[in-house]
Amino acid sequence: MPGLVANQLIHAVAVLNIPPDLLQPRDIELRLEELGLHEHDLIYNIETSSTNIDVLQHYQASGRLSIAVCEKQTAGRGRRGRQWLSPHAQNIYCTIGLNLPVKAEQLGLLSIASGIALCRVIVEAGFDAVKLKWPNDLVFDDGLQKYKLGGILIESRPAGDGYFVAIGFGLNVHMTRIQLDAIAQPATSLDLISGRNIQRQSVLLAAISSVVDQFRLFSESSIDMLLDEFSRYDAYRNQQVCVLNGEDKITGLCTGIGRDGQLLVKTDQTMLTFSAAEISLRAG
Ligand code: ATP
Repeated sequence: MPGLVANQLIHAVAVLNIPPDLLQPRDIELRLEELGLHEHDLIYNIETSSTNIDVLQHYQASGRLSIAVCEKQTAGRGRRGRQWLSPHAQNIYCTIGLNLPVKAEQLGLLSIASGIALCRVIVEAGFDAVKLKWPNDLVFDDGLQKYKLGGILIESRPAGDGYFVAIGFGLNVHMTRIQLDAIAQPATSLDLISGRNIQRQSVLLAAISSVVDQFRLFSESSIDMLLDEFSRYDAYRNQQVCVLNGEDKITGLCTGIGRDGQLLVKTDQTMLTFSAAEISLRAG
């Protein structure tokens, strides 16, 4: 198969000859200064278990906020303990710790708000077909299929009048077709979509700024605007979907999300709402 051979060659060249596209922590520190995040510590690791764990442990041990980035995660996580593939110097792995004055019923919106902030950056970089798949996936939709491009993992702890929140995200930048084939669902990377070599550092800096700005503006009164923007990125808006809850399956029309971030699905009989904790969403 010529395609496969070509892919293997590209992979071999990437592994053997090209110096790895490493991050520059000093520039990330400067960006944190520019953003006014003077109280945040930067945690940069070549290899770590998970950037969410770094930020959560740092907070627990010191009471301090941090932003963690790394070149490789050895135990990158998705939802419900699923694995997030995080090879060395290929993708963006980042977690931003913030204290947010949010209410418990707003926690479900944090993943959506983060996803919108990341979509803005990716669209700005020229990738118009990026969408959000509720509740936590960034997907590239070529009109025929949705390919997973990134994911968000929010973990929170009550703190003061609100929550300490670890906003973790992974975004595939350089992963090759061969590396992506290890994932049990269609997936892609910015390099593969564009046919170019996208700079990890510049996308990372823009992503940090966008997420931080998003949460500076997040409040009860901004929710309507957020829901409106989500409707433009929603990968399944007005499409037939299948909602999976263990062995149970419900099909219906995806009509969006409520003010608490719950998924709204209209069946023949009624309008149903689903919380992200319980279910997975698929094409119907
Ligand atoms: P759900 O719809 O319930 O969120 P999901 O399969 O998207 O289901 P997540 O927890 O969001 O689950 O993400 C973890 C899954 O993502 C893994 O089980 C794997 O299939 C896929 N995955 C793992 N690493 C990557 C990666 N680097 N890029 C794209 N997809 C990945």
